Amino acid sequence: MKTGHTHLFIPGPTNVPDEVRRAMNVGQEDMRAPDFGELTLGLFSDLKRVMRTTTGEVFIFPGSGTAAWEAAITNTLNPGDKVLMARFGQFSTLWVEMAERFGLDVEVIDVAWGAGVPVAEFERRLGADTKDEIKAVFVTHNETATGVTSDVAAVRRALDSCFHDALLFVDGVSSIASIDFRMDDWGVDLAVTGSQKGLMCPAGLGILAVSQKAMEVSRHSTMRRAYFEFMDMVKLNADGYFPYTPPTPLLRGLRAALDRLFREGLDEVIARHARIAEGVRRGVHAWGLDLVAEHPSFYSDTVSAIRTPEDVDARDVLRIAYDEMNTSFGSGLARLSGKVFRIGHLGDFNEGMALTALSIVEMSLVRAGARIQLGAGVAAAQRHFTGVATANPVLRVAAE
Ligand SMILES: *Cc1c(COP(=O)(O)O)cnc(C)c1O
Repeated sequence: MKTGHTHLFIPGPTNVPDEVRRAMNVGQEDMRAPDFGELTLGLFSDLKRVMRTTTGEVFIFPGSGTAAWEAAITNTLNPGDKVLMARFGQFSTLWVEMAERFGLDVEVIDVAWGAGVPVAEFERRLGADTKDEIKAVFVTHNETATGVTSDVAAVRRALDSCFHDALLFVDGVSSIASIDFRMDDWGVDLAVTGSQKGLMCPAGLGILAVSQKAMEVSRHSTMRRAYFEFMDMVKLNADGYFPYTPPTPLLRGLRAALDRLFREGLDEVIARHARIAEGVRRGVHAWGLDLVAEHPSFYSDTVSAIRTPEDVDARDVLRIAYDEMNTSFGSGLARLSGKVFRIGHLGDFNEGMALTALSIVEMSLVRAGARIQLGAGVAAAQRHFTGVATANPVLRVAAE
């Protein structure tokens, strides 16, 4: 029998704070009530604050992040349009596949899994595109499969330096509300996220922010869409209503989650993610293991993808943690299966949770046959969190 707390250290869905869970425990409500708009209009404006946009429109679709991808593509592009994408992990791969299913002419750049968006190569292709055939550039801001964060601002600079007019699509599903994201400053046209990662809610909402430029483009784009049609949303959202039944308990949960985010402060939330992620990485390095992310400039502050030693199957580590320690870590996706496990450290997360995660990884690794020193990763993270560099200050004081 499993007892005690079930630990969820996957990069989404993330842990839902109690106050968010309580806020969702409500009776069903009238989504056409005269005062219903007070809830939704507040959500739209606060999601804009999270995305750091004053001019964009925010849509909330019942669905997950993948639904928001579909809404973004179908509303702004035309069948056969050329788009520029890079593939360096499972999520960027799925995005390419969706674009292909919709009949886009996808120019894909394959990059090592562990690297990020190839900005220089993007710039070269945009510069060579003198006829403006490329209609959109896609960036997976945080590749959740590999724990790699890419430089969206640099992609904007590449577009601008080529005077290129392509739309900039950003998948921010595992970055928005946890890693710095600036829609207006970076000139992002379509920013995608979901409710179950940085926003600390259950899955069920696909959230999309759209620039005025993309809104204008959507008026003339010819790709077929029905459920995700922006204009249906725009008409009813203006007063806070929806063209179909919204999942009202989730909206109540999102309200509580946004209140919590702003109570802590968006900058503080981002700084907390950076601090905790660095502690986790120090733990990984203390074990002598490698991150999938090839270079510190790519390190993700929301998820760490860790390679097991050659002779240790990452699936054993995950199974031992789950069966024996009531703990879930993220698996290695696609080509990383068996070689990699992931620690999600985003959303409602703190230092104690990071230390618990590191401790359970250590036990699971040792049980799976890895030769690492128990406690080494935990101690390295503790040193980072306390700012005390000495391995054991108490013993040192005793010796003096
Ligand atoms: C989780 C995730 C998705 C998929 O989102 P769903 O909500 O599962 O549809 C897409 N992109 C990234 C980067 C993700 O982390």
